[in-house]
Amino acid sequence: MMSDKPVFSSNSTAQQDSGISLCMLASGSRGNSIYVSDGRTAILVDAGLSGIEIERRMKSRDLSPESLNAIVVSHEHDDHIRGVGVLSRRYGLPVYISAKTAAASPQLKNLKKAVAFNCGASFKINTLNIHPFSISHDAADPAGFTIALNHKKIGIATDLGIATAMVRHHLQLCDLLILEANHDPDMLISGPYPWHLKQRVNGRTGHLSNRDSRILLEEIQHHRLQHVILAHLSETNNTPEKALAEVCRAINPLYTQLTVSSQDICSQLMLLNSSPSESLEVCNV
Ligand SMILES: [Zn+2]
Ligand SMILES: [Zn+2]
Repeated sequence: MMSDKPVFSSNSTAQQDSGISLCMLASGSRGNSIYVSDGRTAILVDAGLSGIEIERRMKSRDLSPESLNAIVVSHEHDDHIRGVGVLSRRYGLPVYISAKTAAASPQLKNLKKAVAFNCGASFKINTLNIHPFSISHDAADPAGFTIALNHKKIGIATDLGIATAMVRHHLQLCDLLILEANHDPDMLISGPYPWHLKQRVNGRTGHLSNRDSRILLEEIQHHRLQHVILAHLSETNNTPEKALAEVCRAINPLYTQLTVSSQDICSQLMLLNSSPSESLEVCNV
């Protein structure tokens, strides 16, 4: 029977079911990595911690680095690529990356298995359909992504200064959304960052504030949006409480669960069932 509210489960074997399983391995300015799998294909979207730390966090959630099929890179900033080279070499993983992003960092120039994508053009990694789209950020060719499988769609948009019409278009009708809520505007203005850095964070190629995130969600929320994960929170200019308090105003808790991801602790394993009539489970592993 369809539940109005997402279901919590302690079933640690749920990752074996057909569906999408997802783990926020890390999120924030010191490193970002998201594990996504449909049970047949497993990828990392970004690998911005050391290879060893990503392996450690995956294993802490019973996820095998050997089962990975690829790494997808959003942009060349260090907090998104630190472990890309070592993991690619260690596990023979292809790295899906735009040509401009690959050329923008010395760490990315000599990848042995680079597969180029273009923002705006969908590509497949085995059973996963991935659509990269351009976002506004101070990088060479930054991308957000949607990942589609069966009846489900995941949207990923972090590291963007503004939610353009293109971003709003691509993030429509997602079942699960990973969305940046980087800073509280008042904390940023009154905080310790130097003025040029405040301007950078707050600018069109910087990061979405809690308020920006809430306004975006007000536009794109719909009754099948099961889960919103707030991501890339600043440790200096935000708190999880402030982010949740602002963004929760945009969602209906009867059908959408709102959580916040962490820099230092990887999330529980989340399962998005492939059946359109079933809801999200969070596995307490
Ligand atoms: Zn970042
Ligand atoms: Zn960035």
